[in-house]
Amino acid sequence: MAAVPEAAAARSCQEILMCSFAQRLKENRRELRKRAIDVLQVNMGKYCNQACMHCHVESGPNRTEMMNRETVDSVLRFLATTHIPKVDITGGAPELNQNFDYFVESAVDLGRHVMDRCNLTVIFEPGKDYLPEFFKRHRVEVICSLPCYSEENVDRQRGKGTFDLSVRGLKLLNDVGYARPGSNLILNLVYNPVGPFLPPPQEKLEQDYKRELREKFGIEFNHLYCLSNMPITRYETHLKLRGEYDQYVDLLERSFNAATLDRVMCRDLISIGWDGSIYDCDFNQMLDLALTDVSGKRLDVSSLTVEQIASRSIEVGNHCYACTAGSGSSCGGALIL
Ligand code: SF4
Ligand code: SF4
Repeated sequence: MAAVPEAAAARSCQEILMCSFAQRLKENRRELRKRAIDVLQVNMGKYCNQACMHCHVESGPNRTEMMNRETVDSVLRFLATTHIPKVDITGGAPELNQNFDYFVESAVDLGRHVMDRCNLTVIFEPGKDYLPEFFKRHRVEVICSLPCYSEENVDRQRGKGTFDLSVRGLKLLNDVGYARPGSNLILNLVYNPVGPFLPPPQEKLEQDYKRELREKFGIEFNHLYCLSNMPITRYETHLKLRGEYDQYVDLLERSFNAATLDRVMCRDLISIGWDGSIYDCDFNQMLDLALTDVSGKRLDVSSLTVEQIASRSIEVGNHCYACTAGSGSSCGGALIL
């Protein structure tokens, strides 16, 4: 019998698994549909100065995909036609896209609240030391990955030396006023598990982070967001190499919590890829589950209208268990506290 090509096998496996989550929705007499869009999440590209093992974007220094100026202008044109209040900028390391500053300034000029998902180490890349002041000037909400307050765990997941740079980056943000009383400059941290398990309760972990970071380093921050790792792309490979994939997927499925369905982020968010394609969320983007029109043509931000998104049914798959397990998970942290 001819061998099934690896990519095709993965796809068909994905389709089987998709049925499982869709079935779960059906059993709960639920479906996922868009509501009013609250967040425009923009992925500015896959290039990153890090290459973390859990990265669902599969970002790294060798990636070349970057949102160009034309697409950035299309995003801004679309944004101007909407009342979407928040712009959530992600990547890769979005600050390494040469259009980053322009995009932030333009979105702020449109009166939108801008959030940047910053890996902290980017502040120490050549020519990027202006970032803390730039964020402050535009009142950007900065959301930084820090999967643990222990150096060993952070360096294991994100690469040697990352913890030290992260601490230095957080101090620089504190120094310009982030998370200081009365500054209204928001600095949030993101925790994700270093192994194949669910995050612990968010509020308790936030207290632990605050105590440890304050006592050991004098660092302040506003909130901790707990995210589950998504078992797709690079993290899927990592889990499979360690023989932990089946066990983790099983844990996510067993932990399905229907109470999270009202709050999953895809209901209030649209995600734009570096090339202008449109998705329900960043995870669907990495699985290339692009939104299409009635003829099957991919939607593109250059011609996108709010009407094309309104009340759409969301593309779900088995990966959605990672958002709906336990307390739930989203770019804004746990869904149920
Ligand atoms: S810093 Fe973020 S985008 Fe870059 S490799 Fe790590 S997880 Fe991926
Ligand atoms: S992965 Fe999460 S955010 Fe994306 S479509 Fe599934 S439930 Fe929604």
